[in-house]
Formats: sequence, structure tokens, C-alpha cells
Amino acid sequence: MKIIADPREMQAWSDAARRSGETIAFVPTMGFLHEGHLTLMREGRKHATRLASSLFVNPTQFGPNEDFSRYPRNFDGDCAMMRTVPVDVLFAPEPDVMFPAGSQTWVEATEVTRGLCGDHRPGHFRGVTTVVAKLFNIVKPHCALFGEKDFQQLRAIERMVTDLNLDLTIIPVPIVREPDGLAMSSRNAYLKPDERRRALALSRALRAAGAIFTTGARDPRDLQRAALAVLNDTPGVEIEYVEAVDAVTLQPLATLDRPVVVAIAVRIGATRLIDNAVFSFSTGGSEVRDESRVG
Ligand code: AMP
Repeated sequence: MKIIADPREMQAWSDAARRSGETIAFVPTMGFLHEGHLTLMREGRKHATRLASSLFVNPTQFGPNEDFSRYPRNFDGDCAMMRTVPVDVLFAPEPDVMFPAGSQTWVEATEVTRGLCGDHRPGHFRGVTTVVAKLFNIVKPHCALFGEKDFQQLRAIERMVTDLNLDLTIIPVPIVREPDGLAMSSRNAYLKPDERRRALALSRALRAAGAIFTTGARDPRDLQRAALAVLNDTPGVEIEYVEAVDAVTLQPLATLDRPVVVAIAVRIGATRLIDNAVFSFSTGGSEVRDESRVG
């Protein structure tokens, strides 16, 4: 695996690959890799002849009171995991190379980043779309893979690609979970054993919402209430939000006549966790499709 820290060298690698007829799939990450990241990478291999990844803990997407400085890092371990996929090229720049003094240009998707995490992490999605736009210009991929775990991030990036006519395809990948249902996350490393047990309330809450959907609920508030009941029943889980919104626009939904995403953010001790599930009717019939795979 080639490791590149310099944007110009990365662009040169991609230009050469493209000139020789290769196609490039790209998986951006903040490192401290787990099976979720590796699933994106393995999926990426199927869509192109070359696989690029990046490792960059992006300071511009963390708020002043968030966990930027203590975000878990393990560069050597991450490289070893990427080599198993295998990843062909890793772009791993330093923060002052990505955001040198004087940087002042931002990319922002507006409506889709209102509500949900956007309301609780001011500036977060502006930091995400800006760094992802820069990474796309540096890595020049034909396609990029993003996890549905970060559902609002996925929708914001899809919006950015459409609105700015970026010449690549975004490929969403379903959430990868631990066998007991917990969505994999680098931040799970923060959880103490009792917090890890409480964290199962998120996937339990989504299953409860799914059960209500399956019984024929038509009011999104019924899904919200079912999820809230489970979370409120679990001591030590501080709810940030539980919403059932349009799975495409992320805007409020009057009735469940289109795909709905139930999205949850909580704090357990000092750790912020998110999870979500999409529920929809399969097209052409009344059969319920539970897209959530919540374990
Ligand atoms: P991160 O390193 O947390 O920024 O995540 C990098 C990419 O991996 C993003 O597209 C995430 O949505 C995706 N990802 C993280 N955790 C999971 C998971 N449990 N399942 C699927 N994708 C994930």
C-alpha cells in the first residue's frame, strides 16, 4: 500500500492511474478502523480497479467542546487493516496541509443539514462537506463509498455532488453492526463495560420502531414514541434527539407514505452515539420492507 501525505503527489498518482485506464474507488475515513470501514473498502474494490482510502481526523468538523483532541488514533493498526483489503493507496495528510493559514472557502449543503445532528453540532456538516469536496479534488475518484451509519452526512454529500455537478458516483453502504446489534463506531472504544450494555438501547429502540411500522402505523410520531419509550426505559441514556423523518430529504413527514428514517442521537456518559434505520414499503405492493438490519 502506497502512503501519500502530499495533495499534489496524490493528484499525480490519480492522474497517472486514470491515464492508464484504471478506475478509482475511494473510502474517506477518520481512522481507528473497524469492520464497518473495512466493509466499505471491500465494497469499493468491486466498483473500480484501484482502491484509495484516506485517513484524516478533520478538525473543521469538530465543535470547540467536542472530542477532536482525544479522538482515538492508531495509524499503524489502521495501515495493517487496510493492507488486508487490500487498499492500493492511502492519503494521510497533516491538518495544516489540508487547512493552511488563510483557508476561507467552505462548501455547505443547507436544508438537508438542518435538524437531527445539524441542530446539535453547529458547523459540523459544513466541515464535513468542505473536507470531502477537497478530498474528491485531491483523490479524483470515479466513485466514493459512505456508510448509512452517518445518514445525514451521506445525504449532505449526495446533495453536494448533485448541486456542484461533481463527476463521481456516491455509493451508500448499510450499517455494519456487532452481533448484539450495536452499530460499529470508532467512538465505541470510549464505552466502559456498563455503558456498552446501555448502548444496546439504540438498536433496541430502532427495532421497536420497526415493529410499530410493520403493524401498519401511518403516523411517524408512533415510530418516534416507540423508540423513545425504549430509550427512556434505559437508565444512563441521555437522549439528544429521536426523529422519524423523510429518508430522502430528512424533512418532517406528515404520514408514512414514503421511506422513513428513524434517527437517534444519545449521550452515554461522555460518549455521543448515533444510530438509524430506514423503513419502507417495497414498490408495487403492500409488503413491508425493513431496511434496518438492526440485529
Ligand atoms: P469515520 O471514520 O467515522 O468518519 O467513518 C468513515 C466512513 O465509514 C463513513 O462513511 C461512515 O459512515 C462509515 N462507517 C462508520 N461506521 C460504520 C458502520 N458501522 N457501518 C457502515 N459504515 C460505517
